[in-house]
Amino acid sequence: MTEEIKTFKDLTREVIDQGLCGKCGGCISFCSAGDLNALEIGSNGLPEYANEDNCLKCGICYLICPQIKTLDPDLQAKFGWKPPIGDYKYVSSAQTTDSRIMEVCTDGGVVTSLLAYLLENDLVNAAVVSKKKGLFSREPFIATTREDLISAAGSQFSESFHLEELGGKYTTYAPVLSTVKALEKKYLRDVAIVGTPCQLNTIRKMQVLGILPAHLIKYAIGLFCIENFSFDDLARERLEERLSLNMAEINRLNIKEDLILTFNSGITVNVPLEEVDEVARPACFACMDFSNEYSDISVGGLGSPDRYTSVLIRTEAGQTIFSEAVEEGYIKERVFKDSEEARLEKTKMLAKIVSFTRRKRLRAENKLREIPR
Ligand SMILES: Cc1cc2nc3c(=O)[nH]c(=O)nc-3n(C[C@H](O)[C@H](O)[C@H](O)COP(=O)(O)OP(=O)(O)OC[C@H]3O[C@@H](n4cnc5c(N)ncnc54)[C@H](O)[C@@H]3O)c2cc1C
Ligand code: SF4
Ligand code: SF4
Ligand code: SF4
Repeated sequence: MTEEIKTFKDLTREVIDQGLCGKCGGCISFCSAGDLNALEIGSNGLPEYANEDNCLKCGICYLICPQIKTLDPDLQAKFGWKPPIGDYKYVSSAQTTDSRIMEVCTDGGVVTSLLAYLLENDLVNAAVVSKKKGLFSREPFIATTREDLISAAGSQFSESFHLEELGGKYTTYAPVLSTVKALEKKYLRDVAIVGTPCQLNTIRKMQVLGILPAHLIKYAIGLFCIENFSFDDLARERLEERLSLNMAEINRLNIKEDLILTFNSGITVNVPLEEVDEVARPACFACMDFSNEYSDISVGGLGSPDRYTSVLIRTEAGQTIFSEAVEEGYIKERVFKDSEEARLEKTKMLAKIVSFTRRKRLRAENKLREIPR
């Protein structure tokens, strides 16, 4: 008996109607009936049928949704996944050698420097990143130069961003998948992408299925991600009151063990993540991947000292470009007193990554248990 193909109707029932849609736009961007406008974004920001009759019932939208696990065994086999955090070949704590990147980056500027290495050595034609638009918002952006990369690095904000955004809607989620769709039309080949685990999950599933233009993605740099935030003015006011802070005064934000807010005054405040759960995107509570298990290189701040990026090299391709970027002087690894200190520090870093992974998985299992299937 052949298994029935699940379509957008099933995606609606299993994901969207259950409040699990992360509004990544993947299903709409890569719908086989895109030219026939089968799908659209509804007034609530969620995907919906624009014209159900035009649906080709191919099942692609269902399979590539990050909340659907059908292709997980294929991904696990392809990436040699093993518990608890997927496969990795090498662990590092590193930082950029470029003072301009260091000035603007989130942690150690490894992502921006790696991408600069790839672009300046013609290993890629472009990098899909996301550019700051407001205090909590970014938009996808195709970078082709170091200057482009620097303009998209980090999470530091200027006054004008604040003024532009206040009164609007806030979301830290950058819809990079819609930009991947546009790559072919721009005649770009060999592209690097920076994304959250959910975004790279969709890209990797497209690669498994052979769906264009995922073949253009040559390197996938994956950010650690405990959650993204999305909220409106009312929620912002509530949060400001409860935490006694003024968001317009925030100059920089980062997530490690906590949400780390640096204010224009120079004061830094660590806010426990539980305190900001109310403004996290609901879909994030059902997400299991913290350390971006299917990337070429995963990066985060967790487990490294200030101004360093924690790095997990997962694939051969990732290993090659990281080593070359170090050799070519784009990135420098943290120097330890001796091999014993290096081993201890890396073990502590891995323990933190494992602990956050377990915490995120448990949260997702609890959330999914509440949902009738
Ligand atoms: C929403 C979000 C949640 C995160 N959660 C954690 C966490 O829980 N724990 C942890 O240790 N690290 C987390 N990180 C990763 C961490 O904040 C740094 O991005 C990472 O350590 C790389 O630092 P860097 O200095 O090397 O990067 P940089 O050199 O500053 O480059 C950062 C790159 O990320 C891209 N980027 C920024 N925001 C987004 C976004 N919203 N979506 C897609 N791409 C983006 C930028 O365009 C840039 O290319 C998170 C990042 C994001 C964006
Ligand atoms: S999470 Fe993304 S792919 Fe899944 S239903 Fe929502 S928009 Fe579509
Ligand atoms: S055509 Fe395919 S990808 Fe598009 S909505 Fe229908 S089943 Fe989904
Ligand atoms: S937690 Fe991060 S990876 Fe998971 S759905 Fe939210 S934004 Fe995506």
